[in-house]
Amino acid sequence: MESRRPRRTREKLLLGPGPSPVEGRVLRALAEPTLGHLDGDFVALMDETQELLRKTFQTSNALTVTMPGTGSAGMEAACVNVIERGDTVIIGDQGVFGQRMQDVAERCGATVIKVSAPFGKTLPEETLFEAIDSHPEAKLVGLVQAETSTGVLQNLDAIAAKVHEAGMLLLVDAVTSLGGMEVPVDRLGLDIVYSGSQKCLGCPPGLAPLTLSSRAVEVVRSRKTKVQSWYLDLTMIMRYWEQERFYHHTAPVNMLYAFNEALRIVDEEGLESRWARHRRNAEALWAGLEAMGLTLPVAKEDRLPSLTCLALPEGIDDGRLRRELMERHAIEVGSGLGEFRGRVIRVGLMGSGSTANNVLLFLSALAATLR
Ligand code: PLP
Repeated sequence: MESRRPRRTREKLLLGPGPSPVEGRVLRALAEPTLGHLDGDFVALMDETQELLRKTFQTSNALTVTMPGTGSAGMEAACVNVIERGDTVIIGDQGVFGQRMQDVAERCGATVIKVSAPFGKTLPEETLFEAIDSHPEAKLVGLVQAETSTGVLQNLDAIAAKVHEAGMLLLVDAVTSLGGMEVPVDRLGLDIVYSGSQKCLGCPPGLAPLTLSSRAVEVVRSRKTKVQSWYLDLTMIMRYWEQERFYHHTAPVNMLYAFNEALRIVDEEGLESRWARHRRNAEALWAGLEAMGLTLPVAKEDRLPSLTCLALPEGIDDGRLRRELMERHAIEVGSGLGEFRGRVIRVGLMGSGSTANNVLLFLSALAATLR
């Protein structure tokens, strides 16, 4: 039988909300020979990956792992392990992903107290603090640090202090922040933090890094009921990542090779230099867009370095603009989500995609398209 020809895709510049461009080193790691998931060489790679991940999360948390699946698997894993039916939780939303977290927590059987920000704005701390004061029974406060649907960054310092003072856990979505800006896990004592492999970490989609403080682990260990999801049950998964190497599910071996290589790249660059690069290129993009007379709907101090929302000028159709950027310049950007649908495009400068060259390429392609 004739062997199937490889499916080749034209190389495209990924400047959308993720996945971000993946370096050749990471792709080559993905193609290395598959090993058994209990093989000694693979187990050594897991240990190294776990150490690199702790460095990236800036934590000494023992429970620091990667879950199989995309960022949403991280969100589900965080919620199903910590929340039990009948719990009260407070979840803030500044857009689509905070709303998704509220939905996941409701599916876990929690009573969800929702605190919302107007689209394009940060969560008002006073409103969140009022919810904490009026629901002392709440087990946790959940929120998104880097809201990819709006490009808004939520500062966590005061919130973390308030949540811990109230004796609650703080659950944080760091899908669009980890590797591109500080995620202060140990500095602020964030209790449950998850991310995705495919954004500022520069790996293909398929893994969700996750870390839990010892306080959060204690909550998981002292549950009265079994974790609702067998597949995402950390009480079993942690036994595979520990010395015991207890079989739970077959680890996505080659994805872990790729993830290990991506984390090595993060480590070689250094976290602070990487954050500074993301910031510098985002500022160059903002300056270029504003010099073209375009509007950025999020206030400068609230903007993410990894993702920028750009308001569409009067009379410009979102679908047509994105199609032309792709067809004429092979550049991918994202459409607006939620209340921003049809009103903005989303430009991501994440991982190896955050370069001065890509900023210039995007600005000139956009100028040619809008002309
Ligand atoms: N949380 C945030 C902030 C995200 O940006 C995304 C994806 O864009 C997710 C969660 C869900 O991740 P995934 O699409 O990888 O499942």
